[in-house]
Amino acid sequence: MDGRDSEKIDRALINADGSEDKSNLGANAILAASLASAKAAAIFCEKPLYEFLGDGKTMPAPFLNIINGGAHADNGLDVQEFMIAPLGFSDFSSALFAGVEVFHTLKSILAQRGLSTAVGDEGGFAPDLRRTEDALDLVAEAIAKAGYEPGRQIGIALDVAAGELYDEREYHLPGEKFRGDAAAFVKKLSQWRANYPMIVSIEDGCAEEDWDGWRLLTEKLGGATQLVGDDLFVTNSVRLQKGADQNAANALLAKPNQIGTLTETRDAVRLAQSCGYGVMMSHRSGETEYADLADLAVALNAGQIKTGAPSRGERTAKYNRLLRIAEALGDKAKFSGANALGGGK
Ligand code: PGA
Ligand code: ZN
Repeated sequence: MDGRDSEKIDRALINADGSEDKSNLGANAILAASLASAKAAAIFCEKPLYEFLGDGKTMPAPFLNIINGGAHADNGLDVQEFMIAPLGFSDFSSALFAGVEVFHTLKSILAQRGLSTAVGDEGGFAPDLRRTEDALDLVAEAIAKAGYEPGRQIGIALDVAAGELYDEREYHLPGEKFRGDAAAFVKKLSQWRANYPMIVSIEDGCAEEDWDGWRLLTEKLGGATQLVGDDLFVTNSVRLQKGADQNAANALLAKPNQIGTLTETRDAVRLAQSCGYGVMMSHRSGETEYADLADLAVALNAGQIKTGAPSRGERTAKYNRLLRIAEALGDKAKFSGANALGGGK
């Protein structure tokens, strides 16, 4: 088959698997084949991968996960990811530079307080904290101490991974002895948002099967906050369309190995864009050093990317690739900053 026709290749892979959820061959194996053929075709066409995959020139705003909790760390934090989002910068490399400075400033603050500076699954610190607001205070302090304005220049984003905190009836935050239904949980998230106006984005604020909770969350917070669906959508266009129809979330987390081919990832991203949803390309907590995620983010004009802290090779590989792409694009590169966010700006 002609490798330049990646849609045809991907359709053949999907047919070879034959299942609804790629359980026969496995999404990781299928994605590897899908990516390898696209990369070979890009080399044949003498194009960088980002140019082969699309015509986008938007450098994504980096979301750096600097405190790890939940299932990604052994500490007592209920929320899985505390990210910084350097949005108020004119270009990608200045934004990334600021994020790296905040990461290292946080390290020195933790060390001063006698808290651990060992890192969790995604390269962020995993201090032994319990309360969400204690972690938010530390992140806000690190932003200010590094010389940046929390909110305007550098926002905070959370991945609550609320499915891990839900028992089909109630949400449970053991770190702060909270237990309550969706309405009470949405109130809790609204309090965090009100107490920390620098929070610009919340991922998986409700559990993936709690559509009522998601609708309520979107109604209450969606006007002024990006609400990202990860476990909610699993990069699946059918689930995304259901979300758009029901006004659940206002942004898509796009993980290529969740859906399993480049073509289906691209379809989900395009659908999100046509619905006015924000798009954040994403790594996984378990990762390799592949950096093609960076090319994909630029090619599809995703506008946002999360790929962990600026620490550990499998995380920095993507950020470094983005720096190289920005260099290659030169004046043609755009950086949309906060404009890329779904929902409220
Ligand atoms: P996962 O976590 O790769 O372990 O699913 C990442 C995320 O929840 O965004
Ligand atoms: Zn997530």
